[in-house]
Amino acid sequence: MIAEVIVDILNSNVDKIFDYNCREVLEVGHRVLVPFGGRNTQGYIIKLKASSTLEKDKLKDIIKPLDETPVLTPKMIELCFFMKDRFFLRLADTIRLFLPPQIRSDLGHKTVNIVTLTDKCDISKIKSNAKAQLGIILHLKEAGSDSTANINNKFSSAALKKLSELGFVKITPQNVLRRPIKTLTVEHKDITLTPQQQECVDLINKAKNTAFLLHGVTGSGKTEVYISAIKNVLAKGKSAIFLVPEISLTPQMLSRFTNAFGDTVALLHSSLSAGERYDEFYRLKTGQAKIAIGARSCIFAPLDDVGLIVIDEEHDSSYFSENNPRYYTHEVARMLAHIHGCNLVLGSATPNVESFFKAQQHIYKLLTLPNRAGGAELPQIIITDMLSEIRNGNTGIFSTVFLKELENCIKNEKQAMIFINRRGYASFMMCKECGYVAKCTDCDVSLVYHKEEDMLKCHYCGKRFRALTGCPACKSEYIRQGAVGTQRVTEELGKIFKDVPILRLDNDTVTGKDSYGKILEQFNSLSPAILVGTQMIAKGHDFNNVTLVGIIDADLSLHFSDFRATERTFQLITQVSGRAGRSRHSGKVILQTYFPKHFVYRFAHNYDYMAFYKKDINLREVTKFPPFAKILRILISSENEQKAIDVTREINIKISALKSKYNSDFIYFQAMKSPRGRIKNKFRYQILMRFFLKSEKEIVTDIHKIVDDTKFRDVSLFVELNPQNLS
Ligand code: ADP
Ligand code: ZN
Ligand code: ZN
Repeated sequence: MIAEVIVDILNSNVDKIFDYNCREVLEVGHRVLVPFGGRNTQGYIIKLKASSTLEKDKLKDIIKPLDETPVLTPKMIELCFFMKDRFFLRLADTIRLFLPPQIRSDLGHKTVNIVTLTDKCDISKIKSNAKAQLGIILHLKEAGSDSTANINNKFSSAALKKLSELGFVKITPQNVLRRPIKTLTVEHKDITLTPQQQECVDLINKAKNTAFLLHGVTGSGKTEVYISAIKNVLAKGKSAIFLVPEISLTPQMLSRFTNAFGDTVALLHSSLSAGERYDEFYRLKTGQAKIAIGARSCIFAPLDDVGLIVIDEEHDSSYFSENNPRYYTHEVARMLAHIHGCNLVLGSATPNVESFFKAQQHIYKLLTLPNRAGGAELPQIIITDMLSEIRNGNTGIFSTVFLKELENCIKNEKQAMIFINRRGYASFMMCKECGYVAKCTDCDVSLVYHKEEDMLKCHYCGKRFRALTGCPACKSEYIRQGAVGTQRVTEELGKIFKDVPILRLDNDTVTGKDSYGKILEQFNSLSPAILVGTQMIAKGHDFNNVTLVGIIDADLSLHFSDFRATERTFQLITQVSGRAGRSRHSGKVILQTYFPKHFVYRFAHNYDYMAFYKKDINLREVTKFPPFAKILRILISSENEQKAIDVTREINIKISALKSKYNSDFIYFQAMKSPRGRIKNKFRYQILMRFFLKSEKEIVTDIHKIVDDTKFRDVSLFVELNPQNLS
């Protein structure tokens, strides 16, 4: 047999398939050791065939398989080829997505030595003063078995050794699976689906190979729809993949799933330890678990008979992988659903505008849940004009209405969530006299002041600097602090509400593995209480006692020079607002802005997604932005600025030539320094272009060819189609 093998060499551009002699009985998907370029390296068999076009004496032998059974299935390999073509990735990089890193370092199961009594055990033969030996025997008679570690702890290791020598006990190693899901006990509600929910479930269950967009307001019971649809595929013996944004994988969400499905749920999540991830992977691969829950990379779960894929909060930007390998989870999921012939459900209260456009074109089938389940009302959104607050003499962070409502909320012993999309204390430190702004030495960004540590921090690279006491440029002592962040908001609230517990949830407080869940649990157990946080508080949480949501600076995401800025603002407001009034207590949202007339607030105020969508999609059509055009960015970065410029120039010249070939299709084409001109000491240049969809494939292929043919050293190059982030 001849095997086609992909060799897996880290950080290399080799991405070719090589033929090897296969003298053992191996299958497609086997991981093998092969000789390559003078040394042995690992590879994956992607095809078996009878003969090779290579001459016989040129063919090398596969040295040996690295696992007993194949690690990849033919379906996985098919998806790898799709990703290679669609996102211009190396096959080896796509294959690696399917394997937990431990597989490559062979970290196996954790074994525990278990002690049990044997038939030979005769308690009358133990000396009466051998207390520990007697203790162990009595303990095992009662418990049946226990681990050596426990027994050594409780009694003595010498006594255990003695019993083992006598043949009275037997010690056998046993595999244990490390389980990351600490089941949180939540009240288990028995739910009867509403007619609208049932209709969605029926449509999903009936369909085949269909992609759905489930548009349901926050709290409309989308999760119950997913659970019911998953039950249906499990009943047919199939498995399911359930994706959530990393941040919304809350303990509540998990316990809803474990309540419904018990041990058939496996969690694949970046915060798991290597061992935990390996074991959850193993439970899925062996069929012990049937539902894979996790963030975007969970789409690569080792399941062979997928019956349903769900992407919850589908508008979330975490579904774009912005690091190598770069991919868009929706497209991977659509292909995977196609390969398995199963349905895909994308769900959101605020669908991505491009997804909703697909629903309008009937590429996705639209399902709608317009009301909250259980009859709760969506909270009232009150827009407060911060400019008029200033005119009325209030120059503080909080509007009068907000403070009044917060007082009410506390008085009624309820909870409030305060959202400010910026961590730290102040966004920057600036000299009032000469305008000097403290900047990172490695990045082209201003530093954020963190008061607790009295430090300036770079939010791009993490570097820390001493806070300014005076201006290093003009020696003036008048230093101004920029817009507020979570620390400052927490501090100011603490001054006003002295006896109320105030918790903070942001990247500075969420440090350890469990701190995220702990802060949320603590908040959940306190009433009254205030939770201040960044967008970490925006998603998924379902707290019954939250009656007030404050949005301190709604405009924050509005002013990015990005065509998705209004969409993101609308989504954030709707998601954050959705945290309030989820049970019988009605909720209120106070939204503070300097631009109260902006259309995004008008529509958000009424939760009018459709009106927002119509306005936004019209704007995009007129201005020729996605989904009516494609954006392509080539990002060129290097520690050596001249090298980055040279490469940018060379590619720019080649693309200019290309432009005349597709003249009428090009809308925009420009080479420039990136908005963030330097990050982590690397200079960043970019070539941005926008073109119509008609010749998309040809243009993108030509551009990749240009990039592939360009010779460069010490420069990184990325081609991004429809990048989510243009900074
Ligand atoms: P979404 O995922 O759309 O935000 P959830 O599924 O979290 O909505 O539901 C919101 C709340 O409504 C939850 O507390 C849930 O238990 C409850 N709920 C959902 N469906 C029903 C139903 N049919 N009857 C009663 N309560 C429901
Ligand atoms: Zn100065
Ligand atoms: Zn920096």
